[in-house]
Amino acid sequence: AQSSTSSFSSSSPGGPQITGGSSASKAKIDSSDVNEGDEDEEEKKRLKEALEDEIIESLHGVDRTAAKQIFAEIVVHGDEVHWEDIAGLEGAKASLKEAVVYPFLRPDLFRGLREPIRGMLLFGPPGTGKTMLARSVATESHSTFFSVSASTLTSKYLGESEKLVRALFAVAKKLSPSIIFVDEIDSIMGSRSNEGENESSRRIKNEFLVQWSSLSSAAAGKPNGSEEDDERVLVLAATNLPWSIDEAARRRFVRRQYIPLPEPETRSVQLSKLLSHQKHTLSDEDFIELVELTAGFSGSDITSLAKDAAMGPLRELGEQLLLTPRESIRSIALRDFKSSLRYIKPSVSQEGLDKYEDWAAQFGSSG
Ligand code: ADP
Repeated sequence: AQSSTSSFSSSSPGGPQITGGSSASKAKIDSSDVNEGDEDEEEKKRLKEALEDEIIESLHGVDRTAAKQIFAEIVVHGDEVHWEDIAGLEGAKASLKEAVVYPFLRPDLFRGLREPIRGMLLFGPPGTGKTMLARSVATESHSTFFSVSASTLTSKYLGESEKLVRALFAVAKKLSPSIIFVDEIDSIMGSRSNEGENESSRRIKNEFLVQWSSLSSAAAGKPNGSEEDDERVLVLAATNLPWSIDEAARRRFVRRQYIPLPEPETRSVQLSKLLSHQKHTLSDEDFIELVELTAGFSGSDITSLAKDAAMGPLRELGEQLLLTPRESIRSIALRDFKSSLRYIKPSVSQEGLDKYEDWAAQFGSSG
């Protein structure tokens, strides 16, 4: 899983902009474009800070410093990911569209019985595209994306962590529609029986659960609530260790979507994508063979393999690499993949896979 580090911005595409209606709460700030001269930059920074301050000012009972930190560290832009960038996982995409994207884009249709869910869990072996899916959901649903992990929310100062959690939810509501993406949720929501759970992580967990419940109870009280009540905030989480999630937290994830290892067809699509801008000599038959050879590989294993294979033609040049013109470098061939396969192996064992399958059968949502 990867995280982005860029600062305050919405996930809306395009250059720097401050858009929205009359209220600051609807405003979105985008500072992703940094190539427009220093003065412009200064001005943008000032506007951004002013808007940030205005938003923080309007939040009641929220610690200012904590809110600042949420803005500075959590609202991310990063590289946009679109559905097409993700190979396969059609079931997961469909389920995310129905549960998140459509309700965020058409809130008028998703009320009462069709009220959107507040929690969705993506679980499965590492490197299968969970983070990519979360990022594409943010892009496609035009929502503000908060990417948090245990390290973002952990403070060594007593009580500060809870303030951060409260600020996170307050800012997310204010900038809604929002997605709070928690990578490695198991490290925040570990089961209560876990040994070594210390006081501070217990407090973070409890505060998170309290804040999260407040989202659903606000909505539950108003079954057909007006737009004003529409706090479109979703907690989307990913984990490689679903069995270590606290039971109370697990229940709040109404949808638990299994993200399995890629099927042969998905591997084929991913391999073709990875090679699409490279000079290579792989025939259709070679692709078929390669797809067979990569059985059991995760998406990130395949990416590592392709990267390593792409080095093949350069590697064999040795020192000559420095003198060889680009045109004379040979194309990537199946044999490069075969030699990389000697040391790049699947990162998930069969035993490991069985454990996911069992958990999916017991707790997963179908689809
Ligand atoms: P996870 O969050 O499940 O651990 P990521 O979404 O961070 O995995 O994926 C890690 C990397 O593996 C991605 O950056 C991408 O290069 C590759 N990858 C994984 N799954 C896919 C997929 N379905 N399609 C395309 N690339 C993928």
